[in-house]
Amino acid sequence: MNDSILVVNAGSSSIKFKLYRIDGADLAPLLGGGMSGIGGTPLLTVKDGRGAVLEERRFTPGDVPDASAAQHHLEDWFAHHRGAESIVAVGHRVVHGGPDFAEPVLVDDAVLRRLESFIPLAPLHQLGNLDPIRVLRQRRPDLPQVACFDTAFHRGHPELSDRFALPRFLHDEGVRRYGFHGLSYEYVAGRLRDLAPETAQGRVVVAHLGSGASLCALKGGRSQETTMSFTALDGVPMGTRCGALDPGVVLHLIEHKGMSPAEVGHMLYHESGLLGLSGLSNDVRTLLASDRPEAAMAVAFFCRRVAQAAASLAVTLGGLDAFVFTAGIGENAPEIRQRIVAELGWAGLILSNDANRSGVARLDAAGSRAQIWIIPTDEERMIARHTLRLLGRAAPGATA
Ligand code: ADP
Repeated sequence: MNDSILVVNAGSSSIKFKLYRIDGADLAPLLGGGMSGIGGTPLLTVKDGRGAVLEERRFTPGDVPDASAAQHHLEDWFAHHRGAESIVAVGHRVVHGGPDFAEPVLVDDAVLRRLESFIPLAPLHQLGNLDPIRVLRQRRPDLPQVACFDTAFHRGHPELSDRFALPRFLHDEGVRRYGFHGLSYEYVAGRLRDLAPETAQGRVVVAHLGSGASLCALKGGRSQETTMSFTALDGVPMGTRCGALDPGVVLHLIEHKGMSPAEVGHMLYHESGLLGLSGLSNDVRTLLASDRPEAAMAVAFFCRRVAQAAASLAVTLGGLDAFVFTAGIGENAPEIRQRIVAELGWAGLILSNDANRSGVARLDAAGSRAQIWIIPTDEERMIARHTLRLLGRAAPGATA
């Protein structure tokens, strides 16, 4: 049996996994799935590499109260169904690597303690991310585990990109712009290097537009600045998150509307963004299909803010050679791409409508002053590559 790498992406209410067979210079998807509805109506799903369902099992809420319990169930599944012994390492998506971790890291006790110290920076996510690491260390202490951070790719930022205009001591205490979606940006930067090496050397803005959304400025494939900052709330509006907001609004809600910090947090993370603006849905497909003016307004707002963010990042880069769309909306919504590029028409970006409709990789029309691309992201594969590399085994090439 070939060696394999397990990738685990755990949140507060779901754990997703992907198993890759190490196949010479290739990483071949073998299994994927996970547990959703943790703490609610838990459902374990496992699919093979082609997406055919191998297992679908419902649990009672009491059986899976948290991510640790979910990881135990997944481990049990692996132990019974497929040689868990073939797994040579596990790569974990960990949202926060704090100010220091600029690279993925092999987890030992000291690293785990350090990662726990970042829980206050991303309470819900970081806890859920670390639970499966603890479970696996307990059940399979000899199995190497690698933490791959959403923040790490942004750690080479110039100081100008990492600071808030707040008193200096707060920066030193960790109140700084960390940035997220780093594994996605790293993967996309690598793919652009494969597809268009010269372009990848230049000034590139990548728009990761999924249910979470952010943009990143790359120069020579390295992150220079990004729109999410201290938390994954900042930047452009998202499915249910507000994006950049006057901090005075938060003060107002607490001081004058009597809302508790927890209530404000819930509103900003779960009731705002496209959902809040439209009063209808957080899903772009639903909004595009609706004839309600609020839905149209939410879509227009989203496209305007994304284009504004791109223009702002182009200032950091001193120009723009390429604009890249990725993630659920960026990869699948031609109308949104068209509207964002139209908002950037003043900067000389011209979209080929045919290419945009057919969803090919290169979308710019003749005469466009910057290239326009769709590059599908693959954060799991990025984690698998990092994990292999940290094992001391050559990571398969960027095209794997
Ligand atoms: P996540 O951040 O959960 O990984 P994804 O990158 O999968 O999110 O993006 C999910 C979002 O992508 C959905 O909320 C939906 O709005 C959007 N999306 C997916 N497919 C389409 C489509 N065909 N047209 C428009 N939007 C889409």
